[in-house]
Amino acid sequence: SAAFSQTFIDMPRPERPLKVAVIGAGLAGLSCAKYLSDAGHEPIVLEARDVLGGKVAAWQDKDGDWIETGLHIFFGAYPNVNQMFTELGIRDRLQWKSHSMIFAMPGQQTADGFQRFSRFEFPDLLPAPLNGLVAILLNNEMLTFPEKIQFGIGLIPAILFGQKYVEECDSLTVTEWMAKQGVPDRVNDEVFIAMAKALNFIDPDNLSMTVVLTALNRFLQETHGSKMAFLDGPPPTRLCQPMADHMLARGGELRMEQRISQVLLNDDKTVKGLKMQDGSTVVADAYVSTMPVDVLKLMLPDEWRPMPYFEKLNGLTGVPVINIHMWFDRKLTTVDHLLFSRSPLLSVYADMSLTCKGYRDDEKSMLELVFAPAKDWIGRPDEAIIEATMEELYRLFPNELNKDGSGAQLLKSAVVKTPLSVYEATAGRELYRPVQTSPISNFFLAGCFTKQKYLASMEGATFSGKLAARALADAAAAGTIPLKEAASAMAA
Ligand code: FAD
Repeated sequence: SAAFSQTFIDMPRPERPLKVAVIGAGLAGLSCAKYLSDAGHEPIVLEARDVLGGKVAAWQDKDGDWIETGLHIFFGAYPNVNQMFTELGIRDRLQWKSHSMIFAMPGQQTADGFQRFSRFEFPDLLPAPLNGLVAILLNNEMLTFPEKIQFGIGLIPAILFGQKYVEECDSLTVTEWMAKQGVPDRVNDEVFIAMAKALNFIDPDNLSMTVVLTALNRFLQETHGSKMAFLDGPPPTRLCQPMADHMLARGGELRMEQRISQVLLNDDKTVKGLKMQDGSTVVADAYVSTMPVDVLKLMLPDEWRPMPYFEKLNGLTGVPVINIHMWFDRKLTTVDHLLFSRSPLLSVYADMSLTCKGYRDDEKSMLELVFAPAKDWIGRPDEAIIEATMEELYRLFPNELNKDGSGAQLLKSAVVKTPLSVYEATAGRELYRPVQTSPISNFFLAGCFTKQKYLASMEGATFSGKLAARALADAAAAGTIPLKEAASAMAA
């Protein structure tokens, strides 16, 4: 990924830099704009909201506490994101945790009444895949030895046939794959319900096996692949702003609260301009949409809809998810790590007062919890969601929280609902993911739903932006993008 980044800097400078309208200032849009500016072009980023980040956006409540769209974890196996931090000189903002995966054992307590956790510890001294195998073999609380062996045997085709096999498995759900490979149901119940909810906010009965195998592949092939990091504060200021500053310093532009309402076409179906919600028009040489797939589908011009490239977007839909913040009057845990809840309503959670320097509090806990699957809850009132979450927390913190109100007190809470988040990675979705180059010569796509090998994630979004920037820069160099008169470009 460092070498890929360098290609943007090494490219011959364009004779006439392209004005490129990048729609959306999430990670895909900001990454695309950054690399376009590295290649000598002039991105102008148009963001609908008043905050950077899209699905990593965050804002402050009346007390100054940060509310995040999602609890976000960075992995060692995120080459393009890690490279981005290096290029921006902000690597110290990633707070790496011990190389472990920690699963809660709801309802189970230690002898002194505390929540029990089951850990997969990856030994630092061993390279991949040995560190992963030792982590799995040494954990005997969740799976028995014969269950681990049966799962290991099930994985043999993935090891033998590599990426081709991983892609073929997109036709199967996780549960179907487990049954086909003869893996006992308990492996699914004990580990993969939690894994599926963490990876795509849905159950293994629906999730494509390709998603799980892609993650396992990275974790088993890269020594630090499954190592996790928390950002040291809110993503918009700690990550997105430096990305924006990089391209602003190289001639780019950022326009906030600029919502596009229509894509205007020339007679040959190429993009003529973008109609903005405020009635103005933005004209550029080329256009990159990084809008989420559900918004993009609504925004497609009628003339494009029958084209197979755009028609297949109908196969992708965002999945609902809810992110919850709960502030307690005392510490609930001392674990400075991501925790897999293994509870019916929740996915992962963390005490951000421990895991994140920017939210540090030595006295109180701030739990951030991902509530998934959320399809039956997304339309319900916040109070009902908090009440249901408290029920789960009584089982997760049996010693600290009591139904009679004698334990820790909930001081306040915040619920962030995203009804259509990342695309729902049910079996068979890979076929519908579009590549970054569209059949329209001056229109490109990026976003975590577009085709790249890193799933719907921050890495996927960042990489897709980089791929779109490269496709656009190559097309510019090859002269396949019709140039606007320099004087009229970007007229509002
Ligand atoms: P987005 O972030 O959606 O960006 C699209 C942008 O387009 C937005 O800023 C939006 O405002 C803008 N836009 C939309 N319409 C218009 C318009 N008409 N005009 C102008 N602008 C417009 N990933 C991980 O890697 N690790 C995690 O732990 C993780 N946890 C998550 C937890 C939750 C609760 C959620 C919701 C997501 C999580 N993700 C995680 C996924 C990750 O956040 C996304 O994959 C990634 O941020 C998507 O980036 P994007 O740029 O593709 O899209």
